[in-house]
Amino acid sequence: MRVYSSHKELLKSLGNNKSIGLVPTMGSLHKGHLSLIQRAVRENKEVIISIYVNPTQFNDKEDLKKYPRNLDNDLKLLKDINNVLVYTPSDSDLYGQDEKSKKYNFGDFMNIMEGKQRPDHFDGVATIVEKLFKIFTPDNAYFGEKDFQQLILIKSLAEKLNPDLNVVGCKTIREKDGLAMSSRNKLLSKKERESAGEIIKLLLKAKEMNSSFNYRKIKNEVDRHINSIEGITLEYFEIIDLSKFINISEKRAFIACKVGNVRLIDNISL
Ligand code: AMP
Repeated sequence: MRVYSSHKELLKSLGNNKSIGLVPTMGSLHKGHLSLIQRAVRENKEVIISIYVNPTQFNDKEDLKKYPRNLDNDLKLLKDINNVLVYTPSDSDLYGQDEKSKKYNFGDFMNIMEGKQRPDHFDGVATIVEKLFKIFTPDNAYFGEKDFQQLILIKSLAEKLNPDLNVVGCKTIREKDGLAMSSRNKLLSKKERESAGEIIKLLLKAKEMNSSFNYRKIKNEVDRHINSIEGITLEYFEIIDLSKFINISEKRAFIACKVGNVRLIDNISL
């Protein structure tokens, strides 16, 4: 593992003509991130892991302040992996003096759920990922299905920027009780962590009901269940037929909720 805070220095140390994998992260690494990294290491000669809490994708500045950061521990987790270059930039190495998002229009699928609840969030995500793609010109870039809308957004961004860039979607890695791993889980109290374990149960319940019941009935059941769990408030629950928005014939259930003050999202295929 080698660590760089300057993208120019990192670029100098890349071998020529090697396949490059990119794994963008915001750090506080967990096994979900590590699954992306391990796959990237298997499929590329060199792997760049960026660790950067991107300010422009936080619509809520308090959320940005609270976001967990733990670079020392992240580097410990990565230290024994060969051919890994870790990019830990300052804001100015990526944004210069102009810390602003570009404006994008990614269509209707990006205007619902996360796009609706977090105004400007996807503009910030696309801005930073476009910068990383342009700087490092990877052959493959790895993103998690846990952030499913984001994955679709990145695929569409990559198609526009460079059709040769392969965006790889990776399965959601979960804790023993099914809670999707997330850096934000570190912010949960013991009691909140217990309640958060119910989120996957709601999604699985929706999956079970999907074959026999309509959306309204499933939604009522999810509302009923969530109201019975201490400390959780629902932000949205949706069942989406993806073919109505994008070229994927699959139905998925999506959820966002607050557990205490911690906002968590998850989704599963139905
Ligand atoms: P983040 O650091 O939260 O921005 O995540 C960096 C990348 O890791 C994104 O592509 C996420 O979708 C992915 N990721 C986060 N959590 C998980 C998880 N539990 N399983 C698989 N991928 C994940």
